[in-house]
Amino acid sequence: MKEQPIGICDYCLEYIMAEDWYTSKGKPRQHCCRDCRNTANSQAGAQIRSTKTLARIAAGEWINPATLHPPDPVNVGIGVRRSILGRIRQGVWTNPALSQAARKKLSRPRKHSGPLAVAIDRLDSGSKISDLSEDEATAYRTWRKERYSILKSTQSEEDKAQRRAQWRAYWHRRRQPHVGETGE
Ligand SMILES: [Zn+2]
Repeated sequence: MKEQPIGICDYCLEYIMAEDWYTSKGKPRQHCCRDCRNTANSQAGAQIRSTKTLARIAAGEWINPATLHPPDPVNVGIGVRRSILGRIRQGVWTNPALSQAARKKLSRPRKHSGPLAVAIDRLDSGSKISDLSEDEATAYRTWRKERYSILKSTQSEEDKAQRRAQWRAYWHRRRQPHVGETGE
């Protein structure tokens, strides 16, 4: 049912072009555009969907969809990236390193010292292994090998299999064009 006067969008209250005041079936047009129509319909349905879900939960019939389709780490990564890009476009993104918790963490004493600390810093800020000095590269390689062997010795077979599956999925996606790069 049309709520606003004819020619006014029920959702955003903007004017509707005169030639669009009526639908092809001769009924007063409710919304000015597809976006308003979709949003209004979705909001109108929210209460119904919520009531139905609550009833299903009460009856013990509801299953968390995440258990049916466990989140794929690659998809989660793409979603996070898209959300950050969106917040940057809207100008509401803030640098996480400036948060209270991050400042506290960053002001802790360094974990490593000497050439290794320098190497990690330089690699973090975009240098390649080949840009490092002999000492730094050696310290970094030794440290990385140690970490890897510790990881291998503490990982269960199940963890290893899961890790391998994640890598396979990751490399498979890498071969396909990126999603979320152009923004929509
Ligand atoms: Zn509208």
